Amino acid sequence: MQGMMMDRPLLISAILQHAVRSYGEVEVVSRDGDRPLFRYTYGAMARRVNRLANALRDAGVSAGTRVATLAWNDYRHLEAYYAVPGIGAVLHTCNPRLHPAQLAWMLNDAEDSVLLFDPAFLPLVEAIAPHCPHLRKYVVLDTALPERTTLANLLSYEQWIGEYNETFAWPEFDERQASGLCYTSGTTGNPKGVLYSHRSAVLHSLVLSNAQALGLSSADTVLPVVPMFHVNAWGLPYAAPLNGCRLVLPGARLDGASLFDLIESEKVTFSAGVPTVWLSLAQHMEKHGVSPTTMRRTVLGGSAVPETMIRTFAEAFDVEVRQAWGMTETSPLGTIMARPAHDANACVESNAHVATSQGHAVFGVELAIAGPDGKRLPHDGQSQGELLIRGPWIASGYLNHEAKPLIDGWFATGDVATIDASGNMRITDRIKDVIKSGGEWISSIDLESAAMAHPEVALAAAIGVPHPKWAERPYLYVLRRPGSSLDATTLSAFLTTRIAKWWVPEGIEFVDELPLGATGKVQKQILRQRAHATGETDADAAHAVARS
Ligand code: ADP
Repeated sequence: MQGMMMDRPLLISAILQHAVRSYGEVEVVSRDGDRPLFRYTYGAMARRVNRLANALRDAGVSAGTRVATLAWNDYRHLEAYYAVPGIGAVLHTCNPRLHPAQLAWMLNDAEDSVLLFDPAFLPLVEAIAPHCPHLRKYVVLDTALPERTTLANLLSYEQWIGEYNETFAWPEFDERQASGLCYTSGTTGNPKGVLYSHRSAVLHSLVLSNAQALGLSSADTVLPVVPMFHVNAWGLPYAAPLNGCRLVLPGARLDGASLFDLIESEKVTFSAGVPTVWLSLAQHMEKHGVSPTTMRRTVLGGSAVPETMIRTFAEAFDVEVRQAWGMTETSPLGTIMARPAHDANACVESNAHVATSQGHAVFGVELAIAGPDGKRLPHDGQSQGELLIRGPWIASGYLNHEAKPLIDGWFATGDVATIDASGNMRITDRIKDVIKSGGEWISSIDLESAAMAHPEVALAAAIGVPHPKWAERPYLYVLRRPGSSLDATTLSAFLTTRIAKWWVPEGIEFVDELPLGATGKVQKQILRQRAHATGETDADAAHAVARS
């Protein structure tokens, strides 16, 4: 017997319509280049989204057409987040920090026909345009056209949408239709396009909002620091209006001082970002002896969150850190370590091992771990294997790829993890980053976390370097805190009190900066190349002494 409930499609356009009906007066605040902060309400935003939808339709954008963006987190980008999928087209958010050749490759792979971009990216767009034959229209996200450009078919966003009507009737279509496109980073081989659907985006937003996930409500002012060009800013541009949250968009200024000013001036209660960005926020607050007045909760993810960071935020700034795990292919939320707010400090205090884990699968997501032979491993908190995942917002394939990446219906993440009997998941490494020493595995994440527990270490990155006897040995790159003169012998001695002796790095090198990728993660492939170039991969590295 079938249920007798209406079969209404889950569409992104419904999120904004809901926000207009229920939270029409709630404010969206946005950095607007170097101009004063821009402010409007969800009601006013929806009228501009309608104009953009009309403009796109008139430009021949229809169901399935790919529309690319190269933009920071701001209000015009937010409008594209609704207008493009709303009319059935696909929003392809591109990362402006990528190499131009890689960007052109992606635009061609996606066959984007329209590109909306921030004025700051004009030179980049001019450079790639000759290599992107599918692009037929360019729109600069500004009030006027630039004085000079080599681009043909360039429009200014404001002049363009200003000519269109501010009412629009949103079409209804199959909820499984594609809504968004985001490419994986492509650290090995070419990047691959992950195609989100309306159904996956809406379900993901609903679960993301839950009390046991981000816990969003209309009492929140949400600051998405995670970029809107990478995995939909973790779904916040959809989840915030859905819950009537006030939304604050930080634009291009993501340094600690600018973020702190925005958090304070706009009374932000909740924010989300990657640990490297939060490091500069913490350093700014420590240096100036300040802490957030209203921000009480933050979600960090994208790479492992060190225990010291969770502690610092909880104890020094009274901000609860919820660590989340996910990837481009998982929309991204897969798991989250969500503790009741009143218990945040107690939790770190009583069980740092649990507090620093990646937490439980959210509703809708199932996890498993498998050994190298593909056999399932027990959820005993000890057995390490490749993390497998399935659920309604997990990728089942890649754009333009015939082969399905699934094994028996599960997506293999490339991460190594343990899961304990209570379902708590802990990432030990990425398969490609695990350090294999004498047939045993050293978790680069745990080694880095142990180093970052030293009060003078700001950031650490561990790689494996070849070794004639042990196959690989760990080598550690360390960024000291400002003013520190920590040396390798002292750090080695500190590490021996925290990790097994055979985990202590063969070499420790202090650096002025660590190479960060386009999404704020340490680029270990660059460190491996550097180690190779400086001879750390020679057999002699076996006896390399810690250098400072
Ligand atoms: P990329 O880093 O390749 O650009 P993603 O943004 O999709 O792509 O990154 C996903 C990867 O980031 C995961 O597979 C995992 O290795 C890592 N990651 C994400 N969140 C966490 C976390 N909380 N702890 C450890 N690693 C994480």
